[in-house]
Amino acid sequence: MPVDWVVVGLDNGGTTNNGTILDSGGRFLLDRMVEVPSHVREGPDKAIRSLVASVEQVLGLTGVPVTAVRAVGLDTPGPASGDGVISSKGATNFGHVGWHGFDIRGALAERLGLPVIYNNDGNSAALYAHNVRFDAESGQRSSVAAIVGTGLGGGIIQAGQVVKGAAGMAGELGHVPIPLDGLLDAGQPMPACNCGQSGDAESVASLTGIQNNLLPHWLSRYPGHDLGELPIGTAAKLVRKYAENGDEMALAIFRQQAMALGRLFTIAANFLDPDEYFLGGGVVEATPHFRDWFFAEVRIHTVLREEQARAAEISLVPDLDMAGARGSAYAARDWLISQGQRVRPATLLSLGRRDEHHHGEASRLIACVLVPVRAAGRETRALAGADRVTLARHRQRQRA
Ligand SMILES: [Zn+2]
Repeated sequence: MPVDWVVVGLDNGGTTNNGTILDSGGRFLLDRMVEVPSHVREGPDKAIRSLVASVEQVLGLTGVPVTAVRAVGLDTPGPASGDGVISSKGATNFGHVGWHGFDIRGALAERLGLPVIYNNDGNSAALYAHNVRFDAESGQRSSVAAIVGTGLGGGIIQAGQVVKGAAGMAGELGHVPIPLDGLLDAGQPMPACNCGQSGDAESVASLTGIQNNLLPHWLSRYPGHDLGELPIGTAAKLVRKYAENGDEMALAIFRQQAMALGRLFTIAANFLDPDEYFLGGGVVEATPHFRDWFFAEVRIHTVLREEQARAAEISLVPDLDMAGARGSAYAARDWLISQGQRVRPATLLSLGRRDEHHHGEASRLIACVLVPVRAAGRETRALAGADRVTLARHRQRQRA
């Protein structure tokens, strides 16, 4: 099937990169995980080469020519700035000294000769869930996603766009302090988070929270429990299995997690009042009876006003393994569409009336879009493809 243009989405993790392709008609050309080793622990040089290999791999598998690629979306774990500069202190996956303050987005863009759009992995997964849920209405909807893993990641999507914040740190839901009255057991110590705070959402609702805070306390309540025999890190990973089998102590731990997530969503309700609350993480892949119980517990503890309860839903993040790469692809597509709007004549005229600085900015952006289009040798079709999507979105906005 001929395509006007495609964008590539890359999800960079500690051990692998997962890649995908999204075409101008909104179709993913790969229906499964496509991975290469990420080599992030060996420093930026090897890791950037591996990201390029990931692009080549997805193009090879789909038979799409490189000239059809208009932009690449990239996500990595944080902390990083909104445009992909890794924290000057490094990060869990980016311990190699070469990463400290490294501009991973800029380096990949230079290597590929293509625009690269960056998000952290929580934001990318949030953007994917948002697009799957709202599809053509994505641009008119807002959502909050909480994804429970080693930490508690997530993101905020407003009118179809990732809310990044001034320093790139918006949507760090894990580090939002939550009320703990009625959540902690009698005598349970205040849970501590790696970020330095006590009693934030991640200190309870994460694997790290189980290992450092919840499990040590609950083991003291259940002397002789099997999990007390194991090293705490190993035991923490097994708590979900025990909960699935109805173990009382493991269920007490997950009840606390569900309560923390519900209280986090209650804060989100008052702060953002979103259309959708997404819940993701290991629990999505748990056995259905446990998953449904956990989900119901989160709902019970999410306090919405009557009007909000009618307007909003709580649901699970789909296809969690592919959510990062696919969310990155959506981010690249949305960026491409936003650039397409800038090259429309009416927009050019209004930009021309601005001061020199803005005018220069606009020219650079236009050049950046038009050059790859010409290089592909079929500018009419490529622009028509972008325009169709732009117009469709415009019509949806008018309908709404
Ligand atoms: Zn924290």
